[in-house]
Amino acid sequence: MELYNLSLNQIAKKIKSKEVTIKEVLDSVYKRIEALDETLGAYITLTKDNAYKKAEYLQEKLDKNEDIGILGGVPIAIKDNICTKDVKTTCASKMLENFVPIYNATVIERLEEQGAIILGKTNMDEFAMGSSTETSYFKKTKNPYDITRVPGGSSGGSATCVSADMAYASLGSDTGGSIRQPASYCGVVGLKPTYGLVSRYGLIAFASSLDQIGPFTKNVEDSAIMLNIIAGNDKMDSTCANTKKEDYTKFLVNDVKGKVVGVPTNFLNEGVSDDVKKAYDEAILTFEKLGAKIKNINLEYAKYSLATYYIIATAEASSNLGRYDGIRYGYRAKDFSDLNDLYTKSRTQGFGDEVKRRIMLGTYVLSAGYYDAYYKRAQQVRTLIIEEFKNAFKSCDVIAIPTAPSTAFKFNEKSKNPIEMYLEDIYTVPVNMAGLPAISIPAGFDKNNMPIGLELIADAFREDKIFNFAYTFEKNTNFNKVKPNI
Ligand code: GLN
Repeated sequence: MELYNLSLNQIAKKIKSKEVTIKEVLDSVYKRIEALDETLGAYITLTKDNAYKKAEYLQEKLDKNEDIGILGGVPIAIKDNICTKDVKTTCASKMLENFVPIYNATVIERLEEQGAIILGKTNMDEFAMGSSTETSYFKKTKNPYDITRVPGGSSGGSATCVSADMAYASLGSDTGGSIRQPASYCGVVGLKPTYGLVSRYGLIAFASSLDQIGPFTKNVEDSAIMLNIIAGNDKMDSTCANTKKEDYTKFLVNDVKGKVVGVPTNFLNEGVSDDVKKAYDEAILTFEKLGAKIKNINLEYAKYSLATYYIIATAEASSNLGRYDGIRYGYRAKDFSDLNDLYTKSRTQGFGDEVKRRIMLGTYVLSAGYYDAYYKRAQQVRTLIIEEFKNAFKSCDVIAIPTAPSTAFKFNEKSKNPIEMYLEDIYTVPVNMAGLPAISIPAGFDKNNMPIGLELIADAFREDKIFNFAYTFEKNTNFNKVKPNI
């Protein structure tokens, strides 16, 4: 067992008890990164100098028996669309290739306050648009379970680095599944908190009414610890809810007796592979054996969420990405004849195909003649989806569904056909549409030994239920103990 193999909570304790020094921990993880990341490509930028400086500072404090915070000295990784002061934040785009923020996102401030050490910034789909991390301008990230396969996306780098023990935890962002789906493909725990629970200040916007930051971790306990730190009201984000501070580790209780798991029977056939279906059925059986009640429910509108998501998300993206015009910051084309030409060339050269596709789609659905037919209608369907979930949670504690219809696919398998790629999000987007919390936890392997994820959804701000069910499942199964053979 190496230091990098340990969980976030285990390493935090070892540091505090002075069993290991923070430098030893950093050495172990960076050595792991040096050995593997050439192959896996999880990181865009490493922040080694800063990390060692902070390690020294924290160790001195610890040696004087001063408080170093909950995560004192624990190395973590950050998706490259979350602003880090004086450290490049690229969104994996040529547009922001050299963008260095002058401020930290609120989540970074909170992690830093608790003594976390940032190892580096992780690869992603360009502007978080994608399900495979293949749209990154810089490189491909590989799945640690099989390097011929994608890690999922858009937070593929953040999932891979935790799965391959190249970080104790990481942050990702989830607009339509970008934390849960890569977590499921890489066999780790990924949490998308309730919309408004975690500040979006400093998260580079994709679709503001859907985006939410959340953690990737090696187990459920670590997920609760990370949420404890990043959750909470922030005056810099007006969409952040005014919740009272919660200790989510309180809900790590191994008992779901008498509680109700909703199974949306009519929504379970959306292209689900046999292996995924089998793992799902077994997971439901596990809950039943543990004393939970299983309730069949009907989610009538959830199947429309994909269609509505690709209207709402692209509409918001087209507006949010309007700021990249070559004038204020970001990439600027070299040769241009006038202002219009500067805009056009900068955007043409600075954005990749998927981003352009979304901007065009979003501009189209918002245009005068089509607004009512597409955007307005999508918002109406969104309301139906919200109400349908509300209704379901009157009689269920959580709803369980597969995180994704299939497991990690091969490179280029779906990138030629955007619609096929979009279908990977069928089970994750309804959650963003309704602003709910959901987690993906390891729940099996397919015939190629690729991880399968189980998604647990709860009512808004009921992360307590998610942790209770996820923890119980983890404690009573062995999927979480498996590591990629890399
Ligand atoms: N895969 C989805 C998309 O391409 C979700 C992305 C995300 O959650 N950031 O839009």
